[in-house]
Amino acid sequence: MALMQNYARLPVSFTHGEGIWLYGDDGKRYLDALSGIAVCGLGHSHPAVTRAIQEQAGRLLHTSNLYQIPLQEALGDDLCRVSGLDAAFFCNSGAEANEAAIKLARLHGHGRGIAEPQVLVFTQSFHGRTLAALSATGNLKIQEGFSPLVPGFLRVPYGDLAAAQAVVSANPSLAAILVEPIQGEGGVRPAPAGFLAGLRDICDRQGLLLMLDEVQTGIGRTGKFFAYQHESGFLPDVLNLAKGLGNGVPIGAVLARKPVAALFSPGRHGTTFGGSPIVCAAARAVLRTMEEDRLPDRASHLGTLLATVLHNRLRNHPEVEEIRGQGLMVGVVLRRKPDALVERALAAGLLLNVTAERVIRLLPPLIIGEDEIRKIVDILAGLLES
Ligand SMILES: *Cc1c(COP(=O)(O)O)cnc(C)c1O
Repeated sequence: MALMQNYARLPVSFTHGEGIWLYGDDGKRYLDALSGIAVCGLGHSHPAVTRAIQEQAGRLLHTSNLYQIPLQEALGDDLCRVSGLDAAFFCNSGAEANEAAIKLARLHGHGRGIAEPQVLVFTQSFHGRTLAALSATGNLKIQEGFSPLVPGFLRVPYGDLAAAQAVVSANPSLAAILVEPIQGEGGVRPAPAGFLAGLRDICDRQGLLLMLDEVQTGIGRTGKFFAYQHESGFLPDVLNLAKGLGNGVPIGAVLARKPVAALFSPGRHGTTFGGSPIVCAAARAVLRTMEEDRLPDRASHLGTLLATVLHNRLRNHPEVEEIRGQGLMVGVVLRRKPDALVERALAAGLLLNVTAERVIRLLPPLIIGEDEIRKIVDILAGLLES
Protein backbone atom coordinates (compact mmCIF):
# COMPACT_ATOMS: atom_id res chain seq x y z
CA MET A 1 0.00 0.00 0.00
CA ALA A 2 1.59 3.26 -1.14
CA LEU A 3 0.50 5.32 1.87
CA MET A 4 2.66 6.64 4.68
CA GLN A 5 1.60 4.80 7.80
CA ASN A 6 1.02 7.80 10.08
CA TYR A 7 -2.45 6.47 10.97
CA ALA A 8 -3.35 3.15 12.58
CA ARG A 9 -6.59 2.92 10.63
CA LEU A 10 -9.58 0.80 11.59
CA PRO A 11 -10.39 -2.04 9.20
CA VAL A 12 -13.41 -0.47 7.50
CA SER A 13 -14.11 1.96 4.67
CA PHE A 14 -17.38 3.61 3.80
CA THR A 15 -19.10 3.79 0.46
CA HIS A 16 -21.67 6.45 1.33
CA GLY A 17 -23.41 8.19 4.17
CA GLU A 18 -26.80 9.62 4.93
CA GLY A 19 -27.65 11.67 8.00
CA ILE A 20 -26.07 10.04 11.03
CA TRP A 21 -25.43 6.77 9.19
CA LEU A 22 -22.33 5.61 7.35
CA TYR A 23 -22.50 2.55 5.10
CA GLY A 24 -19.50 0.22 5.15
CA ASP A 25 -18.00 -1.73 2.27
CA ASP A 26 -18.79 -4.75 4.47
CA GLY A 27 -22.52 -4.19 3.88
CA LYS A 28 -23.12 -2.99 7.45
CA ARG A 29 -24.39 0.42 8.52
CA TYR A 30 -22.76 2.37 11.33
CA LEU A 31 -24.16 5.01 13.66
CA ASP A 32 -21.71 7.88 13.41
CA ALA A 33 -21.18 9.33 16.90
CA LEU A 34 -17.96 11.07 15.82
CA SER A 35 -18.96 13.09 12.70
CA GLY A 36 -15.55 12.72 11.08
CA ILE A 37 -14.07 14.32 14.25
CA ALA A 38 -16.59 17.14 14.75
CA VAL A 39 -16.71 17.96 11.05
CA CYS A 40 -20.05 16.71 9.71
CA GLY A 41 -22.38 18.57 12.08
CA LEU A 42 -25.18 18.40 9.50
CA GLY A 43 -24.57 14.69 9.05
CA HIS A 44 -23.64 13.03 5.78
CA SER A 45 -25.01 13.99 2.36
CA HIS A 46 -27.02 16.89 3.73
CA PRO A 47 -29.11 18.05 0.74
CA ALA A 48 -28.43 21.78 1.30
CA VAL A 49 -24.66 21.25 1.33
CA THR A 50 -24.73 18.79 -1.58
CA ARG A 51 -26.81 21.20 -3.67
CA ALA A 52 -24.53 24.17 -2.86
CA ILE A 53 -21.41 22.19 -3.82
CA GLN A 54 -22.96 20.78 -7.00
CA GLU A 55 -24.25 24.15 -8.19
CA GLN A 56 -20.97 25.92 -7.43
CA ALA A 57 -18.90 23.11 -8.98
CA GLY A 58 -20.74 23.62 -12.26
CA ARG A 59 -19.95 27.33 -12.18
CA LEU A 60 -16.51 27.99 -10.67
CA LEU A 61 -14.17 26.13 -8.29
CA HIS A 62 -11.17 28.37 -7.79
CA THR A 63 -9.72 31.66 -8.91
CA SER A 64 -7.04 32.43 -6.22
CA ASN A 65 -7.03 35.35 -3.82
CA LEU A 66 -5.53 37.65 -6.45
CA TYR A 67 -9.12 38.45 -7.38
CA GLN A 68 -12.26 39.43 -5.55
CA ILE A 69 -14.35 36.49 -4.37
CA PRO A 70 -17.93 37.60 -3.60
CA LEU A 71 -18.80 34.26 -1.95
CA GLN A 72 -15.85 34.70 0.42
CA GLU A 73 -17.01 38.22 1.29
CA ALA A 74 -20.53 36.94 1.92
CA LEU A 75 -19.23 34.11 4.13
CA GLY A 76 -17.10 36.63 6.06
CA ASP A 77 -20.20 38.79 6.58
CA ASP A 78 -22.19 35.74 7.76
CA LEU A 79 -19.51 34.70 10.27
CA CYS A 80 -19.00 38.23 11.59
CA ARG A 81 -22.74 38.63 12.08
CA VAL A 82 -23.03 35.44 14.16
CA SER A 83 -19.75 35.96 16.09
CA GLY A 84 -19.75 39.71 16.74
CA LEU A 85 -16.23 39.99 15.28
CA ASP A 86 -15.27 42.27 12.39
CA ALA A 87 -13.27 40.55 9.65
CA ALA A 88 -12.31 37.09 8.40
CA PHE A 89 -9.32 35.37 6.82
CA PHE A 90 -9.99 31.98 5.22
CA CYS A 91 -7.57 29.07 5.11
CA ASN A 92 -7.89 25.30 4.74
CA SER A 93 -7.61 23.69 8.18
CA GLY A 94 -7.55 24.19 11.92
CA ALA A 95 -3.77 24.14 12.13
CA GLU A 96 -3.59 26.84 9.48
CA ALA A 97 -6.11 28.95 11.36
CA ASN A 98 -3.92 28.72 14.46
CA GLU A 99 -0.78 29.52 12.45
CA ALA A 100 -2.46 32.67 11.15
CA ALA A 101 -3.54 33.62 14.68
CA ILE A 102 0.01 33.12 15.99
CA LYS A 103 1.28 35.40 13.21
CA LEU A 104 -1.31 38.01 14.25
CA ALA A 105 -0.08 37.69 17.85
CA ARG A 106 3.49 38.34 16.76
CA LEU A 107 2.47 41.37 14.66
CA HIS A 108 0.50 42.64 17.64
CA GLY A 109 3.54 42.20 19.90
CA HIS A 110 5.95 43.87 17.51
CA GLY A 111 3.48 46.75 17.16
CA ARG A 112 3.76 47.21 20.93
CA GLY A 113 7.52 47.28 20.78
CA ILE A 114 8.12 43.70 21.96
CA ALA A 115 11.18 42.30 20.18
CA GLU A 116 10.35 38.61 20.74
CA PRO A 117 6.61 38.33 21.40
CA GLN A 118 5.41 35.22 23.26
CA VAL A 119 2.06 33.45 23.37
CA LEU A 120 0.64 31.91 26.53
CA VAL A 121 -0.74 28.38 25.98
CA PHE A 122 -1.97 25.58 28.23
CA THR A 123 -1.26 22.03 29.31
CA GLN A 124 -3.16 19.29 27.43
CA SER A 125 -4.04 21.72 24.65
CA PHE A 126 -4.23 20.71 21.00
CA HIS A 127 -3.75 23.22 18.21
CA GLY A 128 -2.72 21.09 15.22
CA ARG A 129 0.27 19.39 13.60
CA THR A 130 2.09 22.13 11.70
CA LEU A 131 5.25 23.32 13.41
CA ALA A 132 4.04 26.38 15.29
CA ALA A 133 0.71 24.71 16.08
CA LEU A 134 2.42 21.60 17.44
CA SER A 135 4.80 23.78 19.44
CA ALA A 136 1.74 25.45 21.00
CA THR A 137 0.19 22.03 21.69
CA GLY A 138 0.50 20.74 25.26
CA ASN A 139 1.28 17.11 24.44
CA LEU A 140 4.82 15.73 24.54
CA LYS A 141 3.87 12.71 22.42
CA ILE A 142 2.77 14.98 19.57
CA GLN A 143 5.98 17.03 19.86
CA GLU A 144 8.36 14.09 20.24
CA GLY A 145 10.87 13.80 17.41
CA PHE A 146 10.19 17.25 15.99
CA SER A 147 12.63 19.45 17.84
CA PRO A 148 13.69 22.15 17.42
CA LEU A 149 10.21 23.39 18.23
CA VAL A 150 9.11 26.90 17.32
CA PRO A 151 10.05 29.20 20.21
CA GLY A 152 7.73 31.80 21.68
CA PHE A 153 5.29 29.78 23.79
CA LEU A 154 4.89 29.81 27.58
CA ARG A 155 2.64 27.21 29.17
CA VAL A 156 0.57 27.05 32.35
CA PRO A 157 -1.97 24.48 33.65
CA TYR A 158 -5.36 24.64 31.90
CA GLY A 159 -7.93 26.24 34.16
CA ASP A 160 -5.40 27.83 36.51
CA LEU A 161 -6.20 31.53 36.35
CA ALA A 162 -3.73 32.46 39.11
CA ALA A 163 -0.88 30.74 37.23
CA ALA A 164 -1.85 32.57 34.03
CA GLN A 165 -1.92 35.90 35.87
CA ALA A 166 1.45 35.23 37.47
CA VAL A 167 3.15 34.33 34.17
CA VAL A 168 1.60 37.33 32.40
CA SER A 169 2.76 39.68 35.19
CA ALA A 170 6.29 38.26 35.10
CA ASN A 171 6.65 38.30 31.29
CA PRO A 172 6.27 41.66 29.57
CA SER A 173 7.07 39.91 26.28
CA LEU A 174 3.69 38.14 26.22
CA ALA A 175 1.49 39.33 23.35
CA ALA A 176 -1.44 36.91 23.39
CA ILE A 177 -3.20 33.98 25.05
CA LEU A 178 -4.31 31.03 22.89
CA VAL A 179 -6.90 28.75 24.50
CA GLU A 180 -9.63 26.20 23.76
CA PRO A 181 -12.94 26.90 25.58
CA ILE A 182 -13.28 23.12 25.95
CA GLN A 183 -10.16 21.06 25.33
CA GLY A 184 -11.10 18.45 22.73
CA GLU A 185 -8.16 16.14 22.00
CA GLY A 186 -6.93 16.80 25.55
CA GLY A 187 -9.88 14.81 26.91
CA VAL A 188 -13.10 16.87 26.51
CA ARG A 189 -12.17 19.19 29.38
CA PRO A 190 -14.45 22.20 29.79
CA ALA A 191 -12.79 25.35 31.15
CA PRO A 192 -13.76 25.85 34.81
CA ALA A 193 -16.41 28.52 35.47
CA GLY A 194 -14.90 32.01 35.29
CA PHE A 195 -11.74 30.91 33.47
CA LEU A 196 -12.47 32.52 30.09
CA ALA A 197 -13.80 35.69 31.71
CA GLY A 198 -10.67 35.80 33.89
CA LEU A 199 -8.41 35.45 30.85
CA ARG A 200 -10.40 38.18 29.10
CA ASP A 201 -9.78 40.41 32.09
CA ILE A 202 -6.02 39.66 32.14
CA CYS A 203 -5.78 40.40 28.41
CA ASP A 204 -7.68 43.68 28.76
CA ARG A 205 -5.48 44.86 31.60
CA GLN A 206 -2.18 43.89 29.96
CA GLY A 207 -2.96 44.62 26.30
CA LEU A 208 -2.79 40.99 25.21
CA LEU A 209 -4.90 39.39 22.50
CA LEU A 210 -7.30 36.70 23.65
CA MET A 211 -7.33 34.11 20.88
CA LEU A 212 -9.85 31.26 21.09
CA ASP A 213 -9.20 27.99 19.31
CA GLU A 214 -12.79 26.95 18.53
CA VAL A 215 -11.75 24.61 15.75
CA GLN A 216 -13.59 21.78 17.53
CA THR A 217 -16.09 23.65 19.74
CA GLY A 218 -17.33 26.10 17.09
CA ILE A 219 -20.28 25.96 14.64
CA GLY A 220 -23.01 24.90 17.03
CA ARG A 221 -21.29 21.90 18.62
CA THR A 222 -21.62 23.00 22.28
CA GLY A 223 -25.16 24.38 22.06
CA LYS A 224 -24.27 27.91 20.96
CA PHE A 225 -22.87 28.98 17.62
CA PHE A 226 -19.52 29.44 19.38
CA ALA A 227 -18.61 28.12 22.84
CA TYR A 228 -17.68 31.60 24.13
CA GLN A 229 -21.31 32.63 23.63
CA HIS A 230 -22.15 30.71 26.79
CA GLU A 231 -20.40 33.61 28.60
CA SER A 232 -22.50 36.75 28.63
CA GLY A 233 -20.95 39.93 27.26
CA PHE A 234 -17.78 38.12 26.20
CA LEU A 235 -15.88 38.57 22.94
CA PRO A 236 -12.47 37.19 21.99
CA ASP A 237 -10.04 39.28 19.93
CA VAL A 238 -9.34 36.38 17.59
CA LEU A 239 -11.45 33.29 16.87
CA ASN A 240 -10.07 30.25 15.05
CA LEU A 241 -12.44 27.91 13.23
CA ALA A 242 -12.32 24.91 10.90
CA LYS A 243 -13.79 21.39 11.37
CA GLY A 244 -17.59 21.95 11.36
CA LEU A 245 -17.48 25.04 9.16
CA GLY A 246 -17.56 23.17 5.85
CA ASN A 247 -19.32 19.93 6.88
CA GLY A 248 -16.53 18.03 5.12
CA VAL A 249 -15.00 20.43 2.62
CA PRO A 250 -11.62 21.69 3.89
CA ILE A 251 -12.03 25.22 5.20
CA GLY A 252 -10.62 27.10 8.18
CA ALA A 253 -11.12 30.68 9.27
CA VAL A 254 -9.65 33.30 11.55
CA LEU A 255 -12.05 36.01 12.67
CA ALA A 256 -10.78 39.11 14.46
CA ARG A 257 -11.75 42.46 15.83
CA LYS A 258 -11.00 45.44 13.59
CA PRO A 259 -7.62 46.65 14.93
CA VAL A 260 -6.29 43.08 15.03
CA ALA A 261 -7.63 42.23 11.58
CA ALA A 262 -5.92 45.36 10.23
CA LEU A 263 -2.53 43.84 11.14
CA PHE A 264 -2.85 41.63 8.06
CA SER A 265 -2.13 44.31 5.48
CA PRO A 266 -1.42 43.22 1.86
CA GLY A 267 1.44 40.72 1.70
CA ARG A 268 1.49 39.79 5.41
CA HIS A 269 -0.20 36.45 4.99
CA GLY A 270 -1.65 34.36 2.21
CA THR A 271 -2.90 31.08 0.84
CA THR A 272 -3.44 29.72 -2.65
CA PHE A 273 -6.51 27.61 -1.89
CA GLY A 274 -8.05 29.38 1.11
CA GLY A 275 -11.57 30.74 0.74
CA SER A 276 -12.15 29.45 -2.79
CA PRO A 277 -15.67 29.77 -4.22
CA ILE A 278 -16.37 26.04 -3.84
CA VAL A 279 -15.61 25.81 -0.10
CA CYS A 280 -17.28 29.14 0.66
CA ALA A 281 -20.46 27.99 -1.09
CA ALA A 282 -20.48 24.87 1.10
CA ALA A 283 -19.79 26.81 4.30
CA ARG A 284 -22.54 29.33 3.52
CA ALA A 285 -24.97 26.43 3.12
CA VAL A 286 -23.80 25.07 6.48
CA LEU A 287 -24.36 28.40 8.26
CA ARG A 288 -27.74 28.95 6.60
CA THR A 289 -28.91 25.48 7.64
CA MET A 290 -27.55 25.97 11.18
CA GLU A 291 -29.63 29.13 11.52
CA GLU A 292 -32.80 27.96 9.72
CA ASP A 293 -32.95 24.65 11.60
CA ARG A 294 -31.73 26.21 14.88
CA LEU A 295 -29.09 23.52 15.21
CA PRO A 296 -27.15 25.12 18.08
CA ASP A 297 -30.37 24.98 20.16
CA ARG A 298 -30.85 21.42 19.06
CA ALA A 299 -27.29 20.56 20.13
CA SER A 300 -28.02 22.11 23.52
CA HIS A 301 -31.28 20.19 23.98
CA LEU A 302 -29.94 16.85 22.71
CA GLY A 303 -26.67 17.32 24.56
CA THR A 304 -28.61 17.60 27.79
CA LEU A 305 -30.48 14.43 26.88
CA LEU A 306 -27.23 12.61 26.02
CA ALA A 307 -25.63 13.67 29.30
CA THR A 308 -28.73 12.68 31.29
CA VAL A 309 -29.08 9.25 29.69
CA LEU A 310 -25.34 8.64 30.10
CA HIS A 311 -25.54 9.61 33.76
CA ASN A 312 -28.55 7.39 34.35
CA ARG A 313 -26.93 4.39 32.72
CA LEU A 314 -23.27 4.80 33.69
CA ARG A 315 -23.10 6.90 36.84
CA ASN A 316 -22.57 3.91 39.06
CA HIS A 317 -20.42 1.93 36.66
CA PRO A 318 -17.17 0.99 38.42
CA GLU A 319 -15.05 1.93 35.40
CA VAL A 320 -16.62 5.37 34.83
CA GLU A 321 -14.93 8.26 36.62
CA GLU A 322 -16.77 11.25 35.17
CA ILE A 323 -19.11 12.33 32.37
CA ARG A 324 -18.37 15.85 31.14
CA GLY A 325 -18.71 18.22 28.22
CA GLN A 326 -21.21 20.64 26.79
CA GLY A 327 -23.90 20.25 24.13
CA LEU A 328 -23.02 17.46 21.73
CA MET A 329 -19.37 17.38 22.78
CA VAL A 330 -19.31 14.77 25.50
CA GLY A 331 -16.55 12.80 27.20
CA VAL A 332 -17.00 9.68 29.29
CA VAL A 333 -13.87 9.50 31.44
CA LEU A 334 -12.87 5.95 32.34
CA ARG A 335 -10.65 5.00 35.25
CA ARG A 336 -8.34 3.02 32.99
CA LYS A 337 -7.40 2.87 29.36
CA PRO A 338 -10.11 0.66 27.80
CA ASP A 339 -9.22 -2.50 25.92
CA ALA A 340 -10.02 -2.23 22.19
CA LEU A 341 -13.18 -0.23 22.91
CA VAL A 342 -13.15 1.58 19.55
CA GLU A 343 -12.81 -1.77 17.73
CA ARG A 344 -15.58 -3.36 19.79
CA ALA A 345 -17.85 -0.35 19.17
CA LEU A 346 -17.15 -0.66 15.45
CA ALA A 347 -18.14 -4.32 15.54
CA ALA A 348 -21.35 -3.25 17.33
CA GLY A 349 -22.10 -0.68 14.59
CA LEU A 350 -21.08 2.46 16.49
CA LEU A 351 -18.35 4.93 15.51
CA LEU A 352 -16.75 6.73 18.44
CA ASN A 353 -13.30 7.81 19.54
CA VAL A 354 -11.12 7.51 22.62
CA THR A 355 -8.85 10.49 23.30
CA ALA A 356 -6.31 11.23 26.04
CA GLU A 357 -6.00 7.45 26.57
CA ARG A 358 -9.17 6.94 28.61
CA VAL A 359 -11.79 9.47 27.56
CA ILE A 360 -14.55 8.18 25.29
CA ARG A 361 -15.38 11.09 23.03
CA LEU A 362 -18.86 11.47 21.55
CA LEU A 363 -19.35 14.09 18.83
CA PRO A 364 -22.52 13.02 16.99
CA PRO A 365 -23.99 15.12 14.15
CA LEU A 366 -26.18 17.96 15.45
CA ILE A 367 -29.09 16.63 13.35
CA ILE A 368 -29.26 13.45 15.45
CA GLY A 369 -32.64 12.43 16.95
CA GLU A 370 -33.60 11.43 20.49
CA ASP A 371 -33.97 7.73 19.65
CA GLU A 372 -30.50 7.65 18.17
CA ILE A 373 -29.05 9.39 21.25
CA ARG A 374 -30.54 6.56 23.34
CA LYS A 375 -29.17 4.01 20.89
CA ILE A 376 -25.63 5.38 21.30
CA VAL A 377 -25.91 5.03 25.07
CA ASP A 378 -27.44 1.54 24.80
CA ILE A 379 -24.56 0.30 22.67
CA LEU A 380 -21.92 2.04 24.78
CA ALA A 381 -23.35 0.77 28.06
CA GLY A 382 -23.43 -2.76 26.60
CA LEU A 383 -19.78 -2.49 25.62
CA LEU A 384 -18.73 -1.25 29.06
CA GLU A 385 -20.67 -4.03 30.76
CA SER A 386 -19.18 -6.82 28.67
C1 LIG B 1 -8.62 19.43 15.17
C2 LIG B 1 -8.12 20.60 15.89
C3 LIG B 1 -7.08 21.40 15.36
C4 LIG B 1 -6.36 21.04 14.09
O1 LIG B 1 -7.20 21.08 12.97
P1 LIG B 1 -6.68 20.44 11.58
O2 LIG B 1 -7.78 20.80 10.63
O3 LIG B 1 -6.53 18.97 11.80
O4 LIG B 1 -5.41 21.10 11.25
C5 LIG B 1 -6.72 22.54 16.05
N1 LIG B 1 -7.31 22.88 17.20
C6 LIG B 1 -8.30 22.13 17.74
C7 LIG B 1 -8.93 22.57 19.02
C8 LIG B 1 -8.71 20.97 17.12
O5 LIG B 1 -9.67 20.21 17.67
